[in-house]
Amino acid sequence: MKKVLSGIQPSGKLTIGNYIGAMKNFVKLQDEHECYFMVVDLHAVTVPQEPASLREQSEAVAALFIAAGIDPSRSNVYLQSHVPQHAELGWLMTTLTSMGELERMTQFKDKSSGKDTVGAGLFVYPALMAADILVYNADLVPVGEDQKQHLELTRDLAGRFNHRYGDFFTIPEPYIPKVGSRIMSLDDGTKKMSKSNPNAGSYIALLDPPDVIRKKISRATTDSGREVVYDPANKPEVSNLMGIYSECSGLSLAEITGRYEGQMYGGFKKDLAEVIVAALEPLQERYHEIRSSGAITDILASGAERARAVASVTLEGVKDRMGFLPPR
Ligand code: ATP
Ligand code: MG
Repeated sequence: MKKVLSGIQPSGKLTIGNYIGAMKNFVKLQDEHECYFMVVDLHAVTVPQEPASLREQSEAVAALFIAAGIDPSRSNVYLQSHVPQHAELGWLMTTLTSMGELERMTQFKDKSSGKDTVGAGLFVYPALMAADILVYNADLVPVGEDQKQHLELTRDLAGRFNHRYGDFFTIPEPYIPKVGSRIMSLDDGTKKMSKSNPNAGSYIALLDPPDVIRKKISRATTDSGREVVYDPANKPEVSNLMGIYSECSGLSLAEITGRYEGQMYGGFKKDLAEVIVAALEPLQERYHEIRSSGAITDILASGAERARAVASVTLEGVKDRMGFLPPR
């Protein structure tokens, strides 16, 4: 049994990209492993958040985890801010990280470009993410492709600590799906789909009602061609829509191409919208049940309690090795 850790930021409405790239694998991995699935609220505040919407989104993300099939009796579901060891180890990891390493992070470049002011938290966030993983000595980290570089930094930091202070941390492995590791934006096939994109038309949110999904898919960018074929280099938008179709329907890419041979994009898009609506319907139903049951508070409390028990042992070990005096 391995330890699995992953997190999603409550920085907006979860998208189908978050689901296909990350959450779908959370559900699979919990059958065989000890899992920690966090709502990473401390990461969300690396860009400004309204307090009321941070509160709402934090609970919404946790409820979506459960609605997607994460079983809180087997997996630990909790908020990052409820386990203070993350922030404390995050600081210690920051001191092991060089400016140059952080400057090379493409997510920082993407999220800071064109902004007048950029918070220092956005810059040092990969060190906190390293702490999130290392504080449980996680073996596997299911994430989308965009997190690969942060995972590599985590591995480097774990190795650096082990080298300096003696073997201690497990070096974690990324777990990235082959198909769907990078769902692209609906309005721009070169940018990844992101829940924090201010244009809601660029993503399908997991809680979008059917009519909104239909509208967004009908408006999704395609190209001037007419063939439904998978060719990410030359037809990024159509290939992306095909990837979503495949993930939501279970059909292979070749089967989708076969189905729409000789047709134009209109019919394909129409069917795609229905395929997404059908895939999200049961999840949305469960989500509303969970929210109205009020069960989330207890789920988060017991998840955090179990997480703190593991994280506090690791943090003590780290502090001891680094030379911090114990309180007594
Ligand atoms: P933000 O724009 O606020 O960063 P996000 O949509 O990137 O939001 P995160 O909370 O940063 O969401 O990421 C949660 C998980 O979803 C991570 O594992 C990330 O790799 C994965 N993920 C995010 N976007 C995509 C995408 N477009 N395709 C596949 N996986 C994705
Ligand atoms: Mg992100």
